[in-house]
Amino acid sequence: MATCSGGGVRRRRWSILALDAAQPFDKEGQAIDVFERRGRLKIAIIGFGKFGQFLAKTFARQGHTLLAHSRSDYSAAAASLGAAFFSDPHDLCEQHPDVVLLSTSILSTAPVLRALPIQRLRRNTLFADVLSVKEFPKSLFLKHLPPHFDVLCTHPMFGPESGKDGWEGLPLVFEKVRIGDTGERAERCQRFLDIFHHEGCRMVEMSCSEHDANAAESQFLTHTVGRLLAKLDLKTTPVNTKGYEALLKLVEITCSDSFELYNGLFMYNKNSTELLERLDLAFDSLKKELFGKLHDVVRKQLFESSP
Ligand code: NAP
Repeated sequence: MATCSGGGVRRRRWSILALDAAQPFDKEGQAIDVFERRGRLKIAIIGFGKFGQFLAKTFARQGHTLLAHSRSDYSAAAASLGAAFFSDPHDLCEQHPDVVLLSTSILSTAPVLRALPIQRLRRNTLFADVLSVKEFPKSLFLKHLPPHFDVLCTHPMFGPESGKDGWEGLPLVFEKVRIGDTGERAERCQRFLDIFHHEGCRMVEMSCSEHDANAAESQFLTHTVGRLLAKLDLKTTPVNTKGYEALLKLVEITCSDSFELYNGLFMYNKNSTELLERLDLAFDSLKKELFGKLHDVVRKQLFESSP
């Protein structure tokens, strides 16, 4: 018995020594592995439509683990991107993602968020969104999510068309709305932002209200002009100028987004109403200028030709 247990101790000691001997060779590989794994996130994309899938391609290429949920069944599209699709949000939340990313239409975001069984998530999950308006999701998150969830609002200011050849130089606007002060939580938020940073995005930290004021001028105006021109049913001609080509392109780009997205830009950005009124006034004043000049000419002709 004594010999037997002594042999066991010896064997254990040998195996420990063998492990020690292997350490220096494995350590570097293991460290790289741990570093890479720590850099990777488990991201749940809620709303796996056009934009959700567009983002998923890049997230997957960077090695992140992807989960997806949507109203429609996108299991085939998800599988082709290496993402796991969950039709039931309970099953998705039980996977304990690091980040829950909302990519739903602006109009459907509130009911979608309310329907998520957030009690099944880990207590300090990071919630983020990519909505094209920012004050609305910020206040929705703050109202609906308990304080132990982190909140990051982002707007990648590009889409499947403008970002199809890469994201280099394209703006990513973000506000760290509520990030817990432990190093781990700050680091997780940074790792999510790094996805965009690594693709070469121009990182613009800005409050949600500043974003909305700027976006009404840039984004809503662009979409409105594009959709207005689309109503004219413009056709290409044999004598297209560069300017006209740009207008045709504008129609194509803006109308490739859903009307729901455009409607969301109007409904959920308080600055959009004012912009629409300014556009109306500008059109009236331009017409007045043109017709004013026309009247001057006609009046002059009338008086000069009168006996
Ligand atoms: P979208 O029309 O704004 O949204 C489509 C997504 O919303 C789909 O995933 C759809 O789910 C979901 N959805 C719509 N109505 C719903 C409802 N009643 N209940 C549940 N889900 C509903 O088009 P998108 O281009 O994919 O945009 C998604 C988000 O990204 C929007 O918030 C948009 O502002 C933002 N964004 C878009 C772009 C862009 O270039 N397209 C750029 C930056 C940010 P199903 O498909 O499953 O029905």
